[in-house]
Amino acid sequence: MIIDTHVHTGFFVSPEKIVDMSEGVVLESIKRHNIDFAIVSNSAEEVDCLLQPIPKERQKTQEQAFLEAINFARNNMNKIGIMPWIKPASETADERLEELIKENRDIVYGIKVHPFHSDIEFDSERVEPYIELAKKYNLPVAVHTADYDKASPMRVYNMAKKYPDVNFIMVHMGLCTDNKEAIDLLGKLPNLYGDTTWVPLESTVEIVKRYGSKKLFFGSDSPIDGVDTYIMNNKGEPSLYLRYFNELEDIIGSEAYADIMYRNAMEFFGIKL
Ligand SMILES: [Zn+2]
Repeated sequence: MIIDTHVHTGFFVSPEKIVDMSEGVVLESIKRHNIDFAIVSNSAEEVDCLLQPIPKERQKTQEQAFLEAINFARNNMNKIGIMPWIKPASETADERLEELIKENRDIVYGIKVHPFHSDIEFDSERVEPYIELAKKYNLPVAVHTADYDKASPMRVYNMAKKYPDVNFIMVHMGLCTDNKEAIDLLGKLPNLYGDTTWVPLESTVEIVKRYGSKKLFFGSDSPIDGVDTYIMNNKGEPSLYLRYFNELEDIIGSEAYADIMYRNAMEFFGIKL
């Protein structure tokens, strides 16, 4: 069994190309690669990859992105769950957001924050109303962490320290870093977790050695490299995830492997399959 806790829909605009992450591509990719359940965030960027503001008329509102995601999950019950992508730079945790969470709590598994694509410090005041909302509805907060200062693992640590009743996931464990900062921080607070999205196998093995197998969830960013993201990257080379499927169990043992690939996700998010 595999649960992918980090999947996207929407259009990802990179300097080289526009990546189609339509619902159809997500469904085909999880079917093709035997993923039993996926937690999906429908992207609603506020700035592009070069940190340039996206014109308002080309942005999705928080509500729009959420409603599309709800529709996707409702049409694919028992396959798709969602984490609404919030827009702390230009919107806030308003009544409408709360209403949608309340009405759809059965398919909402967390709140997704992307400090790079919102160009906002994760531990800033504008983000806090969302954390309060997460606390009220007992939802974890998944945060894109990277080498970009506003999205640093340290800022997630700061927020996690301030809100001990909320669980935080440092997704990517610091993208484009050697993961060391995120790995060190992971052991410092009980409410800090990580995922495997673009995390080299060696870092995952180190995490299991240092902290056991309960701190990490399998995630992939699929279908950001296309329908076969799980096995092939966008250059046509073998995907980093192939090593998770083919080597990880032999290194850390079947119990720890089951934890990372699905069991932690079932327990932590309350996914019933
Ligand atoms: Zn992602």
